[in-house]
Amino acid sequence: MISLELPVTTLTGIGAQTSKRLEKLGIHKIQDLIFHLPYRYEDKTRVVPIASLLTGSCALICGTVEFTDLLPRGRKSLVCRISDASGFITLRFYHFTASQASALKPGTKISCFGEARHGFAGLEIIHPEYTVISHPNALITETSLTPVYPSTEGLSQNTLRKAVRQALLLCQKNAGELTDWIPQSILQHYSYPTLDKALQTLHAPDASISTDDLQNGQLPALKRLAFEELLAHYVTLRANKMTIQAFLAPQFNKNSIASDHFLRSLPFTLTGAQQRVIAEIEADFQQAHPMMRLVQGDVGSGKTVVAAYCALLALTSGFQVAVMAPTELLAEQHFRNFQHWFENFDTHIAYLSGQLKGNSRKAVLQALADGSAGIVVGTHALFQDSVQFHRLGLIIIDEQHRFGVHQRLALRAKGQLDNLKPHQLVMTATPIPRTLAMLQYSDLDISIIDELPPGRKPVVTSVIPADRRDEVIARINHWVRQNKQAYWVCTLIEESEALQCEAAEKTAERLMSVLPEVRIALIHGRMKSAEKDLVMQAFKNQQIDLLIATTVIEVGVDVANAGLMIIENPERLGLSQLHQLRGRVGRGGHDSYCVLMYQAPLSDTARQRLGILRDTNDGFVIAEKDLELRGPGELMGTRQTGQMHFKIANLARDSELLETVQQCADTFLNLSPHAIAPLIKRWLGEATDYSEV
Ligand code: ADP
Ligand code: MG
Repeated sequence: MISLELPVTTLTGIGAQTSKRLEKLGIHKIQDLIFHLPYRYEDKTRVVPIASLLTGSCALICGTVEFTDLLPRGRKSLVCRISDASGFITLRFYHFTASQASALKPGTKISCFGEARHGFAGLEIIHPEYTVISHPNALITETSLTPVYPSTEGLSQNTLRKAVRQALLLCQKNAGELTDWIPQSILQHYSYPTLDKALQTLHAPDASISTDDLQNGQLPALKRLAFEELLAHYVTLRANKMTIQAFLAPQFNKNSIASDHFLRSLPFTLTGAQQRVIAEIEADFQQAHPMMRLVQGDVGSGKTVVAAYCALLALTSGFQVAVMAPTELLAEQHFRNFQHWFENFDTHIAYLSGQLKGNSRKAVLQALADGSAGIVVGTHALFQDSVQFHRLGLIIIDEQHRFGVHQRLALRAKGQLDNLKPHQLVMTATPIPRTLAMLQYSDLDISIIDELPPGRKPVVTSVIPADRRDEVIARINHWVRQNKQAYWVCTLIEESEALQCEAAEKTAERLMSVLPEVRIALIHGRMKSAEKDLVMQAFKNQQIDLLIATTVIEVGVDVANAGLMIIENPERLGLSQLHQLRGRVGRGGHDSYCVLMYQAPLSDTARQRLGILRDTNDGFVIAEKDLELRGPGELMGTRQTGQMHFKIANLARDSELLETVQQCADTFLNLSPHAIAPLIKRWLGEATDYSEV
């Protein structure tokens, strides 16, 4: 019995070279071939009359050669006219051999497949596939539609088809190898075909199915596979959650004196939403099992102070807290905020980033290991192997969308103490639609801070072309004269930090020369953290009026007096990112402004996108519109959220399945606990980080 887990080279006709090419398509083992689906189909199941061909249609025809000509004019070509009882058509070849030319003698019968187009003399087919019919009874038609697979250079459709056919045949012979893990009751309820049937339909569809139906992606056969894949992802996270929840976690008890003291020393009162979310977290902390909670809240909704309060609960219960931020800038700012908020508490707060070296690093590691540091704030450097905790009880991850699902899961392994797993609080300002969140964060409970602190005024946003730059500069000048501060953000299409920095440097130079009175400073990702720190501090202390920045300031920067932001080339960024950037202003109670200065001409979609930003400040509305304009596929992309990659499912096309998956998950988990592991293995492979936890 040949296992579907064996490499493709086990199949006949697949050598080292072909297998290398298959690898480029992500096909390594035999099973991968089975789930490599065609992206379109050709109908060679019936011969159609030539006269019935329409421009653009692809069909199988059968005719007799009337004449064949070699045309020397322009590009040398071989032209062959064939006809059947209904009419004639021209076949045109630009690449051909002499024997090909001589074989197409008048009177020869051929069958031929290709796309009919409009040519000089009526319809023609350029480079058709054709076969000379030597025997009058020769079989011309295929029994099923012909699949066309996504391929790569040097890999012919024929090779792919043969390989897939062999793989499918193996499945049939080794019945049981490709088990259908979806319970019968679910299949019936959604009218999904069995796995075998679905694969048969997609790889070798019956002639009765139209190629259109197959290609528009709505066939139950395809839906069933996409469903299975999404279910596998969902179940993976759910199973992971169950595993985690089987662990014990420290119970944190509220120390009312400390909590009151903390809250009273804040310069504001918490919003209702903040209090509600805190109550949800407090309830989690009472459980003996690890909390895994996502706090979603728009930019400026005040997530950090919620995190700090939670840290206090861990501290007063005798446990350490790790706070992780995606950028150094943000980590430093949290560090300062935490230092400030915990001023009156006897707690050592440490800071750790990749930049920290030598003895200072050693000292921090020591303080974490011996427990003398109660809180550590840092970047992902926190989760390197060398970092050991004494009694880690709570992990806080800010701006979680910047980290992948895998990273998030890997972190959970950290800080185990006497079988106690730390609680986890992850925060994100990226609102994603509910169904999407339930798939992507199915291992997390979700809390939403759906209220901004009082007195916040919406940022007034305008969209103007870059040729009005002088006006913008005049506006900055005027603004700064009123003792107010501003940002100027430079973006670049390339994800190149270096180019972005250069652009920011140039802009800074230019602005310095036209605005000599204005105190201008530059901040970008290639500066040392100490330098960045100095600049940020100076900006906070109002020693700088205008901060020229790259998108490094996207998250976290918090200067209430800076109420004007210019974003250059906003058309290059995603809506969510722009919304995040804009969230840097409008933090005080003053009027604040954002100028989106685009490079003309704008595409229609770009204009619409910027318009959305101008019209609303609500992150959830922006996310929804973004979804409408781009489809969830992109929203789920690596840039915006954690990475989830699918072989077959396509969230733009299959979004309704997210609902289905949630409806079915419990049934599946109850009916088929034995199927969980193999299903995960089938769709996510063995080497997932998930298996570790
Ligand atoms: P985000 O949710 O975007 O991370 P932050 O935690 O940075 O937001 O908070 C934004 C600003 O609002 C900070 O200056 C913070 O101190 C302040 N803030 C937080 N909560 C409140 C509140 N309840 N009332 C007033 N200001 C608040
Ligand atoms: Mg924040």
